[in-house]
Amino acid sequence: MGMRFVSYTISSKDVPGRWSLVLFMKGCNFRCRHCHNWRLVTGDEKDDITEREVLCEVSSNPVTDTLVLSGGEPTVHNPQKLIDFVLRVKSKNPLLKVRVDTNGYAPQVLEKLREVVDGFAVDIKSPIGRSSRYSYTAGRKVDTIRIRDSAYIADGLPLTIFRTPKYPWLTEGEFAEIEEFVSSLRSPWYLNEFYEVPSCPFNV
Ligand code: SF4
Repeated sequence: MGMRFVSYTISSKDVPGRWSLVLFMKGCNFRCRHCHNWRLVTGDEKDDITEREVLCEVSSNPVTDTLVLSGGEPTVHNPQKLIDFVLRVKSKNPLLKVRVDTNGYAPQVLEKLREVVDGFAVDIKSPIGRSSRYSYTAGRKVDTIRIRDSAYIADGLPLTIFRTPKYPWLTEGEFAEIEEFVSSLRSPWYLNEFYEVPSCPFNV
């Protein structure tokens, strides 16, 4: 019995210059304001996609060259199961690259996954040096050392990127602090547009 997923989509936007099969997984250890995938986070969605369907798609679809594990938060799942899944995917299609999208709150899981994936997209949601601001954005008490450690573990892999939404509650000075932190890293950083999600129950 392999892994199960809520849904997937084929996208040319998630990984620049590549066609990706993006898999959405349930669960998350954050409760971010304006989360776009809050229904995945609260677990209301059904796991309808079987691993078998995914393996079939990655071995037969000639367009996709990348698999993205997204969510929700993939790292809340059993790391060994994630590793075994990635290995099965790569044995079906050895040319396929794999990226894991993460909030960076489980550096110990990233450390293990690093051996089998081609990169991570790590969110830097607020300045690393400001735990209280990070906690405000993420909707829970955040130990930012864990985000910093994840950034260091992910940095430099071929598909690794760092991402920050232009959250309207962060000041210019705070964005400058984030920029200073990511400028010490090798992988690219993207400051993305912020889109409001009025229905998100975490906007309290
Ligand atoms: S890390 Fe935040 S934005 Fe990402 S899925 Fe979890 S709650 Fe949503």
